[in-house]
Parts: sequence; structure tokens; C-alpha cells
Amino acid sequence: MINKLSDNVFQLYFKEFGSCVYIIKIGKDNILIDTSSKATRQELLDELKQLKIEPKDIHIILLTHRHWDHIENLELFPNAKIYDEKNINELVLIMIRVIKVPGHTKDSLAFLYKDILFSGDTLFHSGIGRTDLPESIPGKMQDSVNKLKHLDYQVLAPGHI
Ligand SMILES: [Zn+2]
Repeated sequence: MINKLSDNVFQLYFKEFGSCVYIIKIGKDNILIDTSSKATRQELLDELKQLKIEPKDIHIILLTHRHWDHIENLELFPNAKIYDEKNINELVLIMIRVIKVPGHTKDSLAFLYKDILFSGDTLFHSGIGRTDLPESIPGKMQDSVNKLKHLDYQVLAPGHI
């Protein structure tokens, strides 16, 4: 299913289990945030087609973290440069603010674009993400959530809805 969050931002979500996928169109750049799970692959491809975006035209992928349900479709996008916590400093898109939010995982990121906050699995509409996973750093979660809550956003775009 496709939910239009603003003129150039779309939320894709799926019947099968997997993360949401977000698309930001900025000029000729198509930016994806997370890629969801293998189980959602066909739905993802169908929805991209509805938006008239071909996988080869995705240029940038931003990962909120590397849990399997967010990264299993990376291979669909041969022309995308992939950014995660390790190389996020190389990202040159000044209109996207990167926020480090360790807690759910030690490498979790959130992204702020205009008034839309892409919060990954750190913050959901219904509360905060799990911190009992092997990659979690529970002691940092509250600081990270506070960081996000103080940002000036209107729309929360979480990893799962
Ligand atoms: Zn996760």
C-alpha cells in the first residue's frame, strides 16, 4: 500500500511482514529509506511500478539499521549507493539531517527531511522500539528517544506501522 506523506515523499507498507519503505524524490534523485524483507519483495516492486520508479533509478539508500526486515531487498537496487551508520558521514545531501539514535541497535539512525521524521525502530506511533535484542544498547534508548522528541517534526514515519 502506498501512503503519500507529502508532494515528494511516499510511505510503502505491505501485507507480508517487513519494514516500511520510504521514497523521497528530490530533483532527479530517488532516495529510499530501508528496503523491507524478502517476503514483501513482490509488493515492493509492484508499488514502485505504480509510482513509475524503476529499481535501477534508485540512487541512494539510507538504512535506519541493519536488521533483516529492513535490508533484505538491497540487491534489487544495482545503482544505489547504500548508507548506514558506518559511512553516513559521506552522505552529502544537506537537506536530510542524520541523527544517531543508539538503543534498539547500536548503529540505529533516524533521518529528518523537512517536517518528516524517519525514526526506524527507535520510535513508533505507539511507543518506543525493543531494546532486548542482542544488538541493543538499552541504556542509550531513552537519550535517543528524547533527542527525537525534541526535533521539530510534524509527521512521524516509523519503521513499522
Ligand atoms: Zn529493528
